[in-house]
Amino acid sequence: MKRVALFPGSFDPFTKGHEDIVLRGLKLFDEIIVAIGYNSGKSVRYFDIELMLKCIRTTFSNHDNIKVVTFSELTAEFARKNGAQYLLRGLRNTTDFEYENSIAQVNRFLNAELESVFLITSPQFASISSSIIREVHRYQGDVSNFLPYKL
Ligand code: ADP
Repeated sequence: MKRVALFPGSFDPFTKGHEDIVLRGLKLFDEIIVAIGYNSGKSVRYFDIELMLKCIRTTFSNHDNIKVVTFSELTAEFARKNGAQYLLRGLRNTTDFEYENSIAQVNRFLNAELESVFLITSPQFASISSSIIREVHRYQGDVSNFLPYKL
């Protein structure tokens, strides 16, 4: 059976750290669905969702086993509907771990078939975060080094 992983996130914006998780995930899975979702805790986006969809699609235009979509429903439900058996997430530090741990427990409860898989960040991307990039961009700083596409 084809191993399909869902990589959900706000991706506001999608960074080189996210790209790294997806590319490394390809060694484990036959297909990865990158899904830009609305996170209720961070409901107002900085980067337009359609723009981000285009940018991520450009990033992976050479990979037909990476799909890029948007969604606004429960991640566990979206995974079930799209035939994803795995939920891929990245971990940078203990703060990520605490957050990811509780999400994974809830997702397990909602969809017991869905296995969460975590990849530890590569050291060169460990300090890249979407929130810092938003701050730099807000004040006209150059963020191009952190993004795998041109804004
Ligand atoms: P969310 O709003 O769902 O937390 P994010 O877009 O912030 O979504 O992140 C999506 C996933 O990517 C999360 O699992 C997050 O921990 C991970 N991630 C974010 N930045 C990095 C990075 N630099 N290296 C590895 N993983 C990362």
